[in-house]
Amino acid sequence: MRKISIIGSTGSIGRQALEVLERLGDKFEITALAGGSNTDLLLEQAEKFRPKYLSSDKYDERLAKISGVKYLPNGLEEICSNKAENDIILVAVSGKIGLKPTLKAIENGIDIALANKETLVMAGDIVMKKAREKGVKILPVDSEHSAIHQCIKDLNQVRKLIITASGGPFLRKSIEEMRNATVEQALAHPKWNMGKKITVDSATLMNKGLEIIEAHHLFNMPYEKIDVIVHPQSIVHSAIEYKDGSIIAQLGVPSMHIPIQYAITYPERYEGIKTQSFSFSDVARMDFEAPDFDKFPSLNYAYDAGKKGGSATTSLNAINEEAVFAFLRGEIKLCKIYDLIEKLMPKCTFIAEPTIDEIFELDKEARELTRKSLI
Ligand code: MG
Repeated sequence: MRKISIIGSTGSIGRQALEVLERLGDKFEITALAGGSNTDLLLEQAEKFRPKYLSSDKYDERLAKISGVKYLPNGLEEICSNKAENDIILVAVSGKIGLKPTLKAIENGIDIALANKETLVMAGDIVMKKAREKGVKILPVDSEHSAIHQCIKDLNQVRKLIITASGGPFLRKSIEEMRNATVEQALAHPKWNMGKKITVDSATLMNKGLEIIEAHHLFNMPYEKIDVIVHPQSIVHSAIEYKDGSIIAQLGVPSMHIPIQYAITYPERYEGIKTQSFSFSDVARMDFEAPDFDKFPSLNYAYDAGKKGGSATTSLNAINEEAVFAFLRGEIKLCKIYDLIEKLMPKCTFIAEPTIDEIFELDKEARELTRKSLI
């Protein structure tokens, strides 16, 4: 039996991970569940899954009263320091809050199933270096990186990574329609069921941009060797091309249950929630097309920031996130997200080899610049 904790158990990935764990039965013992402010759901999860530890950002007395469970308010770093009771930690929180606990777990030699994008986008160099030093596995949960992870046998023989993108809800819409999109339209993702922030990122293709940066760090691959291809059916989850021209892709129905399960059970495979015989004839056709860099400049922003390296991707992530929040609050139009990134990236301080503290300072600087521009 393996021991696991979930940081971010009340979010979209966390909830799906608990469904996976329920199905896997006694193969896992849940050490800790940590949630944010949705303590009603965390309470429900605690009563059902009986972890040893609970943590939440928002203090809730009811959590402290559950018998046999130790309540650690704001206990992410404490949970991630507990090597004795964790074989793996699923980091499924969204936002920069994921970075410090992840580093703490790596320092303590605990393997990570990583669903938090900011960890690698903000501090990929530091995180991967530390993971290599400590011999810690960073197992990707994101479907694209899971696909690449499943396809790669020998990194040295890879010519390029090919990341697929569904194209989001505006793939067939005009630039004008996209500019004036409502929150509801942006949240209507055709293929994947995800949290709000990542769904807006999928509509602007910034999500794909962040995934390019993550892939660079996870697989130690130069940006010149990472391609994006639009594939609206979301059946091919990504592919790699070997230097002899052979391409290996990973396919399956679009369900996060599969990559979540693979990350936590790696290298084993088990029957899962969405395990079904895949029917090529039901799919009938699969389309692929080059992304439109003019319509979705987010891909260029990601390649540019990634190649610049250092703190550039930290700033890009912070501006984007603040802009997405403003869009979700109804304060700006969708394409203003692009305008803000273009206008503010040159104004952000750049540090080539930032420390973790500097990364948090620069994250703050970029967020403040963005908020000021909204007034
Ligand atoms: Mg993805």
